[in-house]
Amino acid sequence: MLESVMKAWWDSSHMAGGNAAYVEEVYEAYLDDPQSVSDEWRTIFDRLPKVEGVELEAKHSDIRQQFREQAKLGPMGRVSAAGATGAATDDRQVKVLQLINAYRFRGHQNANLDPLGLWKQDRVRDLELAHHELSESDFDTVFNVGSYKVGKDSMPLGELFKSLNQTYCGSVGAEYMHITDTEQKRWIQQRFESVQAKPEFDRDAKINILKGLIAADGMEKYLGSKFPGAKRFSLEGGDALIPMLKNLISHAGEKGAKEVVVGMAHRGRLNVLVNVLGKNPSVLFDEFSGKHDESLGSGDVKYHMGYSSDYATPGGNVHLALAFNPSHLEIVNPVVMGSVRARMDRRGCEDGSTVLPITIHGDSAIAGQGVVQETFNMSQTRAFQTGGTVRIVINNQVGFTTSKLDDTRSTPYCTDIAKMVQAPIFHVNADDPEAVVFVTKLALDYRNTFKRDVVIDLVCYRRHGHNEADEPSATQPLMYKKVKKHPVPRQIYADQLTAEGTIDKHEVEKLVSDYRSALDHGACVVDEWRPMTEHSVDWSPYLGHDWNTPYKGEIGLDKLKELGDRICTIPEGFELNSRVAKLYKDRRAMIDGERKLDWGMAETLAYATIVDDGSRIRMTGQDSGRGTFFHRHAVLHNQADAETYMPLQNIREGQGPMEIYDSVLSEEAVVAFEYGYSTAEPDCLTIWEAQFGDFTNGAQVVIDQFLSSGEQKWGRLCGLTMLLPHGYEGQGPEHSSARLERFLQMSADHNWQVCVPSTPAQVFNMLRRQMLRPMRRPLIVMSPKSLLRHAQATSSLEELAEGQFHNVIAEIDDLDPKKVKRVVMCSGKVYYDLLDQRRKNEQDDVAIIRIEQLYPFPHDEIAEVLEPYKHVTDFVWCQEEPQNQGAWYCSQHHFYAAIPDGAKLTYTGRPASASPAVGYVSVHNIQQKALVEDALATK
Ligand code: AMP
Repeated sequence: MLESVMKAWWDSSHMAGGNAAYVEEVYEAYLDDPQSVSDEWRTIFDRLPKVEGVELEAKHSDIRQQFREQAKLGPMGRVSAAGATGAATDDRQVKVLQLINAYRFRGHQNANLDPLGLWKQDRVRDLELAHHELSESDFDTVFNVGSYKVGKDSMPLGELFKSLNQTYCGSVGAEYMHITDTEQKRWIQQRFESVQAKPEFDRDAKINILKGLIAADGMEKYLGSKFPGAKRFSLEGGDALIPMLKNLISHAGEKGAKEVVVGMAHRGRLNVLVNVLGKNPSVLFDEFSGKHDESLGSGDVKYHMGYSSDYATPGGNVHLALAFNPSHLEIVNPVVMGSVRARMDRRGCEDGSTVLPITIHGDSAIAGQGVVQETFNMSQTRAFQTGGTVRIVINNQVGFTTSKLDDTRSTPYCTDIAKMVQAPIFHVNADDPEAVVFVTKLALDYRNTFKRDVVIDLVCYRRHGHNEADEPSATQPLMYKKVKKHPVPRQIYADQLTAEGTIDKHEVEKLVSDYRSALDHGACVVDEWRPMTEHSVDWSPYLGHDWNTPYKGEIGLDKLKELGDRICTIPEGFELNSRVAKLYKDRRAMIDGERKLDWGMAETLAYATIVDDGSRIRMTGQDSGRGTFFHRHAVLHNQADAETYMPLQNIREGQGPMEIYDSVLSEEAVVAFEYGYSTAEPDCLTIWEAQFGDFTNGAQVVIDQFLSSGEQKWGRLCGLTMLLPHGYEGQGPEHSSARLERFLQMSADHNWQVCVPSTPAQVFNMLRRQMLRPMRRPLIVMSPKSLLRHAQATSSLEELAEGQFHNVIAEIDDLDPKKVKRVVMCSGKVYYDLLDQRRKNEQDDVAIIRIEQLYPFPHDEIAEVLEPYKHVTDFVWCQEEPQNQGAWYCSQHHFYAAIPDGAKLTYTGRPASASPAVGYVSVHNIQQKALVEDALATK
């Protein structure tokens, strides 16, 4: 039956095989919603087979095959399916449908996008009538327009051609046909084609747009005349960003957003701060004059500063946060996403409908910086999705001085990277602010509807050099000849509005002078600005604490046992992998007091206590669910059906949320995301775990420019914990070191804590301390690998229950201090090697002290621990790392300060090395043996 229906269809179809793609699309639309296609198409598709009253979808592959076969046979009969509307009934109809498709696919290539008119566009033959064997002589013939959503089924070709050009080749270039999901494509077509990409704006909306442009221009002119030559990274040329953002925020509020987090580089930032976020201009002028906020540690330049305020929208006030960020391009984007995710989690919002991320990119940077790809890849994953980001490119067609296309990228558009997630991209001419506002609202609605990223490419220019002290003509002579003659966007739009009679010249002049006098008065220039009340977290309990702020960490043994029982309880019938089952059996024995606790159990118990207290835990890392070294198994996998179960999520009703995600294989964007998360959520133990510690190299920019210095530069606290597996076990240069020395070298101003816990009780209490103490500063942990299963690295429940992290651990063997001739100080795994060797040597003249927190250095505690050894003059710092790495160079001033006056301090460890570790196990073993022997060699 199917065969005969298909044949009948083909016999009556005007379609040739070459149009298969188009018919497939129409058919797909029909399958989604029969009403979405024209009557003629519906009639054809309705004739496909039905079985027992149920519609049977003719297999897509059958249809495709049919098209292919047909193509081999040549053109089909020429009976039009459009006859019912009185439209043309010859094979030109097919060509017309192809023409529509061509505009949908390639119209953007002929769109009028560049305000300067410098873009050289290749001829796009598909957009020419002749290419489709049509001509102006067909203009009066009426054709069926298929799924072209212009509100009618058929049009004369002349009218259709005009409409296609207006819709797809006007001030907006829409790239969306790379999206495979038909619903999304149809949605965009509906929004785009129904208004021919040019909706009507009422007078108020137009005046508001004009006001935005006046503000953008007025602000820059004001700064330029008051502070000539000062760097301000002017927005001029991209002025439409201001009405764009204002409309975006307002529309977001109308659609239910409660918070908007914005990330942007320096271009136009001062303008956005004053004209969108409502920063008081007088504060900015003070900053230009050299005054600054004394409360911010070492501070930052004004064009890196963030800001927070509330903004009135038709849907109520929306909280705005502009993220602080360094010069490092694009790195703020994952920070913004993390901040948004924290706010979503706090609001219990899973789809991002209440919190909107907006990221603003540069054209060279979005194409050039790898972190952009990382964020696109993260955008739909469980751990990192934010319900889609609205990404705006300020495309001024030039990097600092680099503008030649073949120097900046290898793709036609700077936004092509977005296609990796099939994001729609709307290129728009910034000199047409109505088109800008049109795509802005469309982009937001797309994001809200499909929960996916969307890109607006605001094609503009840069009126000055990279900064205002620069001479752009030196490298862009032709471009700047054009720029100099080009009218400012405010002028262009004001002329348009006066020409059409929306406003008269005097009113425009008044708006300009009103804005200027508002600046003269230093008053807030944003009508929608509201004092901040809408943000949902209070940071005041976390302000003003130091690392040694006391906290109550003790926990009852009964409570520990009860929580231990919960985390060892697996649902009936849940089939564990045999090795995991053994591990859980051992854990139960630990709780029952039959054996001492190992690392994995103590760490898991720490998490249990924290969520039991009601706080949130979020952990990400490349293998965090299981643990790189098979020690954690916080996420269990049913061997029967691959379902997962997390005991830590099942502690008790009403517990704090517990989330552990295996992350995408990225360090840079993921660490930045977690930084963003933890700067927005103090009541969460946010943990990032490296697969191996050295992988943090990939996130070095985040460590340098956010984690280590964010509090000093911007006054932003961050309690992120980084677990970085570290230890010399013969695994070679890449898997031995978490580059402890780099963290210690950046340690100052009590910016973070660097810890090397050596026992399960220590990791338990270290993690709890990070949460229980009100201080929120990063915790950098050199976490172990072999110690996870070391026979001596175990603890009792009592040691856990004691509740304090020991920054220094005294000698544990019962040595007579008087006999001690040497004190060895060390951190981490080498301690066990030293202890083992000393016991083997039956030595009683060397005491071994563990320093478990290297920064801030625990001077008082070490003094206490060294008290019995006042007579000792021989002190040793022993480390596994090469001499130029590890703690030796960066911390030796602390070690010297800790030992008695006149005593000597010697280094034992590996010799200095360019590489973190040797690659040969045999050499590693020789080195390890030697450094331990040296440390203990008192004679
Ligand atoms: P936001 O929601 O990011 O706009 O922040 C609102 C206010 O909370 C800010 O103006 C700060 O006063 C405070 N705040 C936000 N984040 C932090 C942080 N990480 N450390 C300290 N204070 C913060």
